[in-house]
Amino acid sequence: MNSADGFTRAVADLRQAVAGRVIVPGEAGYDEARRVWNGMIDRRPALVVQAAHADDIAAALRFARERQLPVAVRGGGHNVAGNGTVNDGLVLDLGALNRVQVLPGTRTVRVQAGATIGIIDAATEPFGLFVPSGVVSSTGIAGLTLGGGIGWMTRAHGLTVDNLLEVEMVTVHGRVVHASATENAELFWGLRGGGGNFGVVTSFTFQAHPLPPEVFSGNFVYGQEHWGDALRAYASWTHDLPDALTSIMSFLVPPHDWGLGDDPRMLFGFAWATPFLEEGARALDELRRAAPPDAEIVEPVKWTTWQSAADELFPKGVRGYWKNTSLDHLDEDVIDVLVRRGAEQTWRGTGFDVHHLGGAFGRVPESATPFPSRTAQFWLNIYGFWADAGDDAERIRFVRNFAAEMAPLGSGGLYVNFMGEERGTDAGVQDAREQAIAVYGQRKFERLSALKREYDPENVLRLNHNIPPAST
Ligand code: FAD
Repeated sequence: MNSADGFTRAVADLRQAVAGRVIVPGEAGYDEARRVWNGMIDRRPALVVQAAHADDIAAALRFARERQLPVAVRGGGHNVAGNGTVNDGLVLDLGALNRVQVLPGTRTVRVQAGATIGIIDAATEPFGLFVPSGVVSSTGIAGLTLGGGIGWMTRAHGLTVDNLLEVEMVTVHGRVVHASATENAELFWGLRGGGGNFGVVTSFTFQAHPLPPEVFSGNFVYGQEHWGDALRAYASWTHDLPDALTSIMSFLVPPHDWGLGDDPRMLFGFAWATPFLEEGARALDELRRAAPPDAEIVEPVKWTTWQSAADELFPKGVRGYWKNTSLDHLDEDVIDVLVRRGAEQTWRGTGFDVHHLGGAFGRVPESATPFPSRTAQFWLNIYGFWADAGDDAERIRFVRNFAAEMAPLGSGGLYVNFMGEERGTDAGVQDAREQAIAVYGQRKFERLSALKREYDPENVLRLNHNIPPAST
């Protein structure tokens, strides 16, 4: 029997062993199954296991380990670096494990790791609850949570990881472990920002929060001639705001159907976390007076409506390359760059967001989670994306040059979930180590690396923002 026959036989055995689908090249559905959100990532796995039961995870991991196949673990497939797929390895796709269980009595929500933000919001909204997450509904909760999770409620309730109570995980050796503040506490620490390095998560339990019947939210729209003044007003307005108000300043050419023309616009988007609208309206009025918008849409809407309002900006299959940095302030130098870069970005697709932080995000001590830079007041995410392969070089250059220009003005924080592929799939351990130190800093890196050695000493799970295991 040659090795190809052996592999075919092993795949047949795996099919018997798992409840989910196993797809190999040439079979129906393979092309769809290998793809992720970022259309620039074009990889051809040896097999895709679409888990239908948590037990499938251990079986798939065993299969990969026995053959030393690289493993790509996928939730929502949004990872911009394309870590949810792999050449010649095994993709473990958890998308079908997406059940959400809401426990209104304790205001807790248990979600399987394949759920998207949209699935979770739809399940919690009828109970008048929500879990703080991200701003695009198709994003997977797994990757989002394991990296951190910035969204519309970050100032009110912190990152998604700050609301995490418990994790159930399968180790690369097939052991089921639980992690919480009281059980495997060091692992629980590492999972709150250290990415998918320590095992395959099967479920997360979150603290949920009461949701107003409708969420006071909306956008102010600014034309280019007002950007500088509006940003100055915004910078000073954000100095003293209730935590309930989270906002994002976005620069983009809006989609045609928004009726805002073809020029780049600056959008101030906000969400107010509590039912006490008067206080929110008052805070908003201050900005409106200081920086009168050219247009605005401000109204209370259902949470699920607001949470999917940006979806059409981010269709699956576009080509993507992102970079980010934390910022301590929006001073004149920063504002100059934002205004100039915003005006240069004249195509539909690429945009950049300035997330306002502080509030509950900033009250979590730096050492409490691996997530870096809790003192950051803002976080800039340059989300490059475009449709045509012919534009790759130019669009990537734009994002890189913009990020390089911002680097000396930022406060050095890097968020793994807003990073594109920097190292290439064949990058060595040394590159990974340097990148991880750049993200987490030396002390947190050493702690994460020791944890990695404990849970995944052979670095089986290395298709991620990798933390190489500490050497013994
Ligand atoms: P996947 O590609 O499926 O997974 C990402 C990585 O997570 C995997 O490579 C793996 O390492 C790990 N992983 C996934 N599932 C598991 C698991 N069960 N166990 C262990 N490891 C696992 N981020 C924000 O913070 N806020 C936002 O508002 C936001 N908006 C976004 C909008 C778009 C359109 C996109 C493309 C991304 C956005 N992000 C945002 C970034 C997002 O958080 C990351 O891309 C994240 O990795 C997505 O998670 P996923 O499960 O969809 O990705």
